[in-house]
Amino acid sequence: MKRILFVALAWFISLPVLAQHDHEHAGGRVITFPDTDQYLSLTCDFHIHSVFSDGSVWPSVRVDEAHRDGLDCLAITEHLEYQPHIDDIPHPDRNRAYDIAARTAGESDLIVIRGSEITRSLPYGHANSIFIQDANPLLQDDAEDAYAEAASQGGFTFINHPNWTSQRKDGIARLEPEQLALIERGEIGGIEVVNDLTFSDEALELALKYDLTIIGTSDIHGLVDWQYEIADGGHRPITIVFAEEKTQESIQAALEAGRTAAYYLDTLVGKEEYVLPLVEASLLLSSQGYIGDTTVLNVTIENVSDAWFTVKNVSDYRFHDRADLLSIPPHHAVSFDVKTLERRTDISLSFDVLNVVTAPGVHPQVALRATIEQ
Ligand SMILES: [Zn+2]
Ligand SMILES: [Zn+2]
Repeated sequence: MKRILFVALAWFISLPVLAQHDHEHAGGRVITFPDTDQYLSLTCDFHIHSVFSDGSVWPSVRVDEAHRDGLDCLAITEHLEYQPHIDDIPHPDRNRAYDIAARTAGESDLIVIRGSEITRSLPYGHANSIFIQDANPLLQDDAEDAYAEAASQGGFTFINHPNWTSQRKDGIARLEPEQLALIERGEIGGIEVVNDLTFSDEALELALKYDLTIIGTSDIHGLVDWQYEIADGGHRPITIVFAEEKTQESIQAALEAGRTAAYYLDTLVGKEEYVLPLVEASLLLSSQGYIGDTTVLNVTIENVSDAWFTVKNVSDYRFHDRADLLSIPPHHAVSFDVKTLERRTDISLSFDVLNVVTAPGVHPQVALRATIEQ
């Protein structure tokens, strides 16, 4: 018994590691999520760097990576004020990286968005303005003028890595009065809850408190393949945007309306009203009918998304072949038996979705329904 316990324990402990890196992606490295009933689920990275600020690659490499990841949209967001390669790669124009990336993307179905990272010390910190028309006028002495210019160009601005330990030694995201004033004026509309390899519960709290759009980005400087261990099944953090159409205008409208979820490791972070429809579209319940003349029902949940789901049964019914937890790998189906106590023609199962976060420590509940084959 001890040995079995040990083996079981070892398997259980190894689960989080497996969950992060041993994904079997049916579509290879392409990041895929199903559309919801109402919206397209677009995969977007709104924060990247190239040699035109402090990144290590030419902008065309960023476009190639985005194609490999199957992204729908990529924003080019070089630091405006921080230009460590300027002596080696002199350029008079803060739009150069965007121009090269847009030309590389050409007529492909990758949408490339013009952006910039306003790069300041606190109280302003770093922020990305995207959907701008011209990055150069954002280069201002006064940070307030940069935000105002981005707004006047019709840009959407979000706060970057508010939990960054270079500016917050305790890793706790906070907003300064100056940032709150910009939010008040509508010149900041979002906040990174996920940046590169970090997740911030406090940023999520701020997003909910001030009605900011939840953003997850890679902020990639080196290579996506190395930073996120793509060969071992990893993926870059992204923002899933729930848009009416796959156009720049539609993506911006969704960001301004807050219709997003961040996808990081196996975790989906979003406001419940937007992330729950994605869960419902990702997990498909079906039933193969009752076992013989019993009231034990065989059902299957198919996960048609890239996220590894962990769900906890909170239904009226208990399971016949396991306890209350289900681990459902991406693009896999899990079958199990449910004791319904009487023979039914349909079934509804409720789960707490543990890999989805709607507020710090809060996991939403989803109800999955199916008719029963008689
Ligand atoms: Zn930054
Ligand atoms: Zn950055």
